Amino acid sequence: MRNYGKGYSCAFCNKSGVKLWRPPMDVSPLTCASCSEQFQVVPTDEQLVVDSGVEPNLVPAVLDEDDNFEEVNFASVSDWEAWGSLPTR
Ligand SMILES: [Zn+2]
Repeated sequence: MRNYGKGYSCAFCNKSGVKLWRPPMDVSPLTCASCSEQFQVVPTDEQLVVDSGVEPNLVPAVLDEDDNFEEVNFASVSDWEAWGSLPTR
C-alpha cells in the first residue's frame, strides 16, 4: 500500500496530498512543485553528473508498494500511476 498521506509532505511548506520531489541520491528533503522551483538544490556530488548531460536536481518521489522511495528508473507502471494521480499543486 502506497501511503501518500499526511507523512508525505513538503519539507518546506508542509503541504501534503500533492506530488513531491526529492534529490536524486537522497530521500530528503521532499519538496512540492512550488518549493522545488524556489529551492532547486544544485548537486555537488560527482556521482550526480552523468555522461549524457546534467542529472536533474530533483526526481519524482515515487513510493513503491512498501512505502519506500523508489529509484525512478525501476518504478513500476502502477507506482508511476499512483504518483501521477496526485495533484501537482
Ligand atoms: Zn512546499
